[in-house]
Amino acid sequence: MATTTLSETEIATSKPQSTKYVYFFGDGKADGNGKMKDELGGKGAGLAEMTNAGLPVPPGFTIQTEASREFMRHGQVSTEVDTQMDEALNRLEQLQRQKLGKGDNPLLVSVRSGAKFSMPGMMDTILNLGLNDESVAALAKLSNNLRFAYDSYRRLIQMFGNVVLEIPKSAFDEVFDAKKKQKKAKLDTDLDAKALKEVISEYKKVVKKHTKRDFPQDSNEQLVMARDAVFRSWNNDRAKHYRRINNISDELGTAVNVQAMVFGNLGETSGTGVGFTRNPATGNKEFYGEFLMNAQGEDVVAGIRTPIPIRELEKIMPEVYRRLHQITTRLEKHYRDMQDFEFTIQDGKLYMLQTRNGKRTGRAAVRVAIQMVEEGLITKEEAIFRVEPNQLYDFLVPRLDEKEIKPENILTDKGLPASPGAAVGQIVFTADDAVEKAGHGAKKNPVILVRAETTPEDIHGMEVAAGILTSRGGMTSHAAVVTRGMGKCCVAGAGEVQVNEHVREMRVKGQTFKEGDWISLDGTTGRVIKGKLKTVEASPDDPELTKILGWAEPFRKIGVRANADIPRDAIQARAFGAEGIGLCRTEHMFFAEDRIPHMQAMIMARDEKERRMALKKLLPMQRSDFEGLFRAMDGLPVTIRLLDPPLHEFLPKREELMVEIAILPHTDAKQKKSMVEKYARFGAKSAADLKKILPQVLSRVEELHEFNPMLGHRGCRLGITYPEITEMQARAIFEAAVAVEKEGVKAHVEVMIPLTATLKEMANQAGIVRRVAGEVFEEKGREVHYLVGTMIELPRAALIADEIAKEAEFFSFGTNDLTQTTFGFSRDDINKVLPTYLAEGILKQDPFAVLDREGVGELVRIGIERGRKTRPHLEVGICGEHGGEPSSVEFCHQVGMDYVACSPFRVLTARLAAAQAAASEKLKVEGGRTK
Ligand code: PEP
Ligand code: MG
Repeated sequence: MATTTLSETEIATSKPQSTKYVYFFGDGKADGNGKMKDELGGKGAGLAEMTNAGLPVPPGFTIQTEASREFMRHGQVSTEVDTQMDEALNRLEQLQRQKLGKGDNPLLVSVRSGAKFSMPGMMDTILNLGLNDESVAALAKLSNNLRFAYDSYRRLIQMFGNVVLEIPKSAFDEVFDAKKKQKKAKLDTDLDAKALKEVISEYKKVVKKHTKRDFPQDSNEQLVMARDAVFRSWNNDRAKHYRRINNISDELGTAVNVQAMVFGNLGETSGTGVGFTRNPATGNKEFYGEFLMNAQGEDVVAGIRTPIPIRELEKIMPEVYRRLHQITTRLEKHYRDMQDFEFTIQDGKLYMLQTRNGKRTGRAAVRVAIQMVEEGLITKEEAIFRVEPNQLYDFLVPRLDEKEIKPENILTDKGLPASPGAAVGQIVFTADDAVEKAGHGAKKNPVILVRAETTPEDIHGMEVAAGILTSRGGMTSHAAVVTRGMGKCCVAGAGEVQVNEHVREMRVKGQTFKEGDWISLDGTTGRVIKGKLKTVEASPDDPELTKILGWAEPFRKIGVRANADIPRDAIQARAFGAEGIGLCRTEHMFFAEDRIPHMQAMIMARDEKERRMALKKLLPMQRSDFEGLFRAMDGLPVTIRLLDPPLHEFLPKREELMVEIAILPHTDAKQKKSMVEKYARFGAKSAADLKKILPQVLSRVEELHEFNPMLGHRGCRLGITYPEITEMQARAIFEAAVAVEKEGVKAHVEVMIPLTATLKEMANQAGIVRRVAGEVFEEKGREVHYLVGTMIELPRAALIADEIAKEAEFFSFGTNDLTQTTFGFSRDDINKVLPTYLAEGILKQDPFAVLDREGVGELVRIGIERGRKTRPHLEVGICGEHGGEPSSVEFCHQVGMDYVACSPFRVLTARLAAAQAAASEKLKVEGGRTK
């Protein structure tokens, strides 16, 4: 075999192929291109692509994400990055015929982050870099605008100070606000050059005080420090949090874009703005956005000055407007998606600073996708991936009537869309006022609770309010989390709104709002609008929604059922397209006001006879519920789970009873009366009975008390120890099924045994169910087809699924309990550890929200495989919370389940997620979702 050897000199000079860290763009050519998002990040790839397309982009260079990963690993970048950055800077200086921060015409640059997936506002940006005491004078001379030069310099010190030197923003704000006060200036722009010069000198003192060194005058040093600060910002709390909720990997890192500055604040022929090629709230095809003349980028988003709708630009600078419209339309065609762009006009010349696929509401996502298919821009197959399954929730909540929204009445559109829907009401500033003003019954009055932020003490006000608005806090603030749980509209963290609860006043955009003033909230987009707008009700049969689902659903392989316990929810779920009920939690039927006394009597029973008497009273109630469910689902499967929770959950709390027994001798007549009412269901008829009854209840509560109720007397263990409960439930189910079938309704019954771990448990309960079924059919002279199956909620059940399947005719994975028992995390207490686990990266996501594929998922896979070994056509589904979460639904599709089941409000989401999972497999595309 021939061998080739390297000569000595070749060995000496051969070094590993060095990485290309820095990609230049400018003068109509770029080293990179739009496909290189992994290396250049979304922004860098966009800048390269726009440059290659000959669009007016200020030149610059992108330091690729590998440098960021290097920075994460070693706390600094390699010298190779420095070398390549110096080369690129030289090239930029030559192209611009300028020197960074030097000479009569100094080069100034912006330094911005840009990750693969856009993370708006999460990382840091520095503008005007290159300014120092010398270059500021050159800039003043060159622009013939002293004020502009000083304003740019003070902005640099402020941004650099905050982002790079980590000085709190407030330290600079204090100086600036004090100066405005001193000069009696209303707006920032009212400060003249002299005042700004004074601000600069005070800002420098702030820097010295906090860092013990002067603001760096060497522009190259500024650049290196800024670059490293942007790399550092990848790991700031905001960014980490954003990645977690958007499921973006921490490993990716960010690119850094260094770009020649163009100035929107050079005077009245300059300006800056942001926009979308279509309306991101509605999806309508309209040029949408806003701008400010004589301003720099941050002014548009900071909310200090009120931006102007973009169509006004047509009047001010028709040529620039026309060109901007033309360019962005071209960009949309090029990227085949709605674009979100940034531009700057410097002295009448237009520059494009950024373009990316724009974020949009669910309704807008659906409309844009359909329109783009109609316009021939994308195919129907692509369209189904243009909507995130979770976004379909927008179709299930009321919304504001867009026709009524006048742009001048939008107080802010930068609040966080914390909990979707619309709310219209009168402002109140405290929870107590909310309760007082909201009123009751016919006098009910919609109120919007406006607070800087909410705390658990506000809960009573939040409950009665139509919607919540806060000026502080993020997507996981108290207000956001609680309102989402309540299904109530909330706009959180609306920074432009100043709330003063003490004087009961809200200020925004120079306007003051008092208690009683009407406002309208859009929790889907984060908008706050002045006045009392009309709302439009939810519409699961919206024609556009129907259309896009019509394209997606033919791909779907697995069924979607709903978890519903009462006929009303079942009817709603069916309207959303549920193909059956995957879980009816029968215990929820016992919590109703008229049933709980009988349930409690059953639990208090001293022996089987007494218990059977109480159960007899419950039987007709359960039967009528089941009839309602069968009717609602006519012909579709209804999976009914036998009683699951520990019995003490139906009794008063132990501690409460102990206190009441202790205080009973000291209570007055009024208190005694209310206690008699409370304990009437346990037989209390007069105050005299309390002395006997309270200890009786306590003693039963203590008998039932468990240290670990979640691992205790629940699930099939209840039915095994009290078989009469299973008997009653089975009887109610089959009597209902026979009754509705006599009416012509088709009952498709699946009886589900909870929390089994052994074949014998399953056989025991299935035996009772089958016996009772036979008895009922015999009595009624009619048979109904049914299945008896089980929930797989314990690791043991998954592992011996082949055994259990000998008795079980179907499986439904209860992944709430399966997650609890696999991790050993209590599902009710995990929040004590979860925040730390997420922050430390020990867990990437909450395993109770997103199915843990590695552990819990592996048990699911094993359970299905072994179960089907015994029973090849075993029907398998999931009914834990994960059944409505898109990535878990994808997993369920992949492991060959027959269906997923979720709450009615997630049925649309699950339908689309299941369709996407199948379509991406069939079309061999990788999700293709708009990030
Ligand atoms: C489960 O454990 O996943 C389940 C659906 O049952 P529950 O939430 O009622 O315990
Ligand atoms: Mg369970």
